[in-house]
Amino acid sequence: MRQLAVCLDFDDTCVDFLGALLDTYYLDSGDLIPLNSLTDYKLPNPLKSHLKASERLGFYRSLQSLRGSFAFIDKCQKLGIKIIFITARPEKYEEDTRHNLREHSIQNYELYFSKDKAKTIESLKTEYNILAFIDDRASTVVDVHTKCNLPYSFLVNKPHNKNCFLDGLKIIRIDDLADAWVILSGSIQLLGLNIANGID
Ligand SMILES: [Mg+2]
Repeated sequence: MRQLAVCLDFDDTCVDFLGALLDTYYLDSGDLIPLNSLTDYKLPNPLKSHLKASERLGFYRSLQSLRGSFAFIDKCQKLGIKIIFITARPEKYEEDTRHNLREHSIQNYELYFSKDKAKTIESLKTEYNILAFIDDRASTVVDVHTKCNLPYSFLVNKPHNKNCFLDGLKIIRIDDLADAWVILSGSIQLLGLNIANGID
């Protein structure tokens, strides 16, 4: 029987990527870019250049957690559900990413670097029974929702995706990620599926 798993994006789903990026950009340049002026991941050019420079200086090593994200992960792991991070970050920052996860005391996870998350999820299905996918990028959530036929696809509700309304998808706040388990497990029980024994 395949192990149950949840696939999670990392930046702005588990850790505060855009907040840190705007803060450090402000410190470097003196220019204040409001978080709610950004639309999805369409970064203005000065911010893109700042990100490239920051990445090389270890930007990904010490990002702060978003409230509720690691409590959600802890709940999943206590229930025996595998946590699989799928990030579109460049793979060369793997060690910085793992360092950040160690700082947050996250263990027993899998980590994939992929811009085609639907394809990665499809390849993981041979090994895992994937319950849900969670991401803050609307186009990615729609792609996975359309192609992967998972029980749940969640778009995390953030300022940069405030204009995205997706029919048929749960919109949750990051603060509520820990409570998402209630939604997940409640629905799974409604479907007559047994978490303890997997849903094969
Ligand atoms: Mg993200």
